[in-house]
Formats: sequence, C-alpha cells, structure tokens
Amino acid sequence: MKKPVITVIGSINMDLVTIASRVPSQGETILGEKFHLIPGGKGANQAVAAARLGAEVHMIGAVGTDAFGKELMNSLKREGIFVDHVKPVTHIETGVASITISEGDNRIIVVPGANHALCPEDVEQCEDVIAKSDVCLLQLEIPLLVVEKAVSLAKKHGVLVILNPAPAQPLPKSLLEQVDILTPNEHERDIILAGEDAQKFAHKLVVTEGARGVTMVKNGKPMRIPSFSVSVVDTTGAGDTFNGALAVALSKGMELEDACYFGNAAAALSVTKLGAQTGMPTEAEVRQFLE
Ligand code: ATP
Repeated sequence: MKKPVITVIGSINMDLVTIASRVPSQGETILGEKFHLIPGGKGANQAVAAARLGAEVHMIGAVGTDAFGKELMNSLKREGIFVDHVKPVTHIETGVASITISEGDNRIIVVPGANHALCPEDVEQCEDVIAKSDVCLLQLEIPLLVVEKAVSLAKKHGVLVILNPAPAQPLPKSLLEQVDILTPNEHERDIILAGEDAQKFAHKLVVTEGARGVTMVKNGKPMRIPSFSVSVVDTTGAGDTFNGALAVALSKGMELEDACYFGNAAAALSVTKLGAQTGMPTEAEVRQFLE
C-alpha cells in the first residue's frame, strides 16, 4: 500500500538539557549533574512521530549551518524524513531550547534562531511537495506569515491542513477559516479563539486534555475520546506524538473520531518513555498496543 504523504512545516531545534540539584542565583555559578543534547522543536518532533507511524514525511524548515544544524539534519534523515526543503541559513544559528531541570521543575529559554529565518518565499518554492501531500501539519514556532502562506498553498491544492496552534497566539480569522483541523490544548484554545465566535470553529477543534484524552465535536455535540491508562514516565512530546499520529490516521482516510483514538494510543505509548522523540512509538507498537 502507498505510504501516506505528510508535509510538516515547522521548527527544528536542539534542546540543551541541563540537570542540576538547584537553580543558580543571579551572578552565581554552580556545578550541574548531567547535560544532554536532544533533537526537538515541535515541527521536527511531529515529523518524527508521523515517520515512525509509517508516513512518507517531508520537512519544510530552516537550520543554521552550524554543528547543531548538521546534527539535526542527520537525525531527521535517520528517521527517513525528507529534508530537501530544510533551508540551511548561514547568518543565524540553529534554534535552541535551553532547558534546566531541577527540583522536579523545568525552566526553558527558546531562541528561535534559524526557524525565524524561514520566509513565505521559501514555502512558495515548496509548492510541488505541498501539492502532492495528503496532509500538511503545522505549528506556531515559525513566523505566522509562513504559516499563512503554507496553509493557503495547501488549500489551493485541496490538501487537508492540521494546525497545532502552539505556542498559542491570537490568530487571524482568515487562517482559522482555512485550516481544516485545529489541535490546541485547553489553554491554547482559549487564546486562539479569544474575541472569535468560538461556535463557528467548534467543528474543526480537537482539544487535547492531557490524561483525559481529547474532545472533538460530532453531530454538533462535544464528544470526549478518552485516553488510555498507562504508567507515566515523561509526558514531554505527548502533544507532538498525538499530532503526528492524527495526521497519519487522517491521511489514511480514517474518520476524525477513529483518528483521535489512534492519536490517543500513540500519545499514551509516548508518555511511558523518557524524552520527546525517543518515546515516540512505531506503527507496529501502536498496532500491538491496540490488539
Ligand atoms: P505537550 O506540550 O507536553 O506535548 P500538550 O499540552 O500539547 O502537551 P496534552 O493535552 O498534555 O498535550 O497531551 C496530548 C495527548 O497526549 C492527550 O490528548 C492524550 O492523548 C495524551 N496524553 C497526555 N498525557 C497523558 C497521560 N498521562 N496518559 C495517557 N495519555 C496522555
């Protein structure tokens, strides 16, 4: 059977994770316990989730020509993701997220770097790959103008568009109208629909609700699709796994309700393992889990 084709237009970051017993005060230097370099960025994470679940995935994004950029390109390639449309940028560094984990809490600074060097013209040059996709999957860690351009190109070619509106920001009505499926969590839903007639967009909302699962609208009524009960190790990347899985399921022609069920299963498996991309399940693992 032909693989579903998914194009992800989004961020590619290196996560710099420091584990320390406490956070230093201003001006203070302390010794940390461990340090990890972990590929991340919502775009790359969702691309990896979709690729593991059996899709042909094309990534549109930007990285610096620095060591992190090279490593991230290699890690996407190792997942079988096509990176021909990832733009190398010479004048700005690869996006990074500096994450300090201490006392059971985390502090994060994201520097978008090359992700913000992606421009609408770059996406225009990818029209052919967008046009041949079954689904285009986007988030908001790249410039909004790029998101708007990609969505309008996808709709021009009748491609289904899923927008995971994270990190949340108020969105133009025209964008909300064009997108087919919106996948905010509850907090993001309130931000993207502030000042809008929420009812008008209710039919395209799939709201992720953590351990409770997701809520979508069926026949005009809200319907909860419960998540699976698993022993939780790390919920990082649960949302990204859900979005990648939803894209795969919808690109295979599943009904939204069934696609959410599949997404819940993949996301539940992801929280049983440490790390965002490391915890993402394969198609076979989800199939076995659902047996
Ligand atoms: P993140 O940004 O941390 O990835 P998010 O806020 O985007 O998360 P959530 O709503 O927390 O997304 O989780 C997405 C999906 O992951 C949920 O709808 C559910 O299917 C699954 N999930 C999350 N937490 C759990 C859990 N504890 N047990 C089972 N499934 C979970």
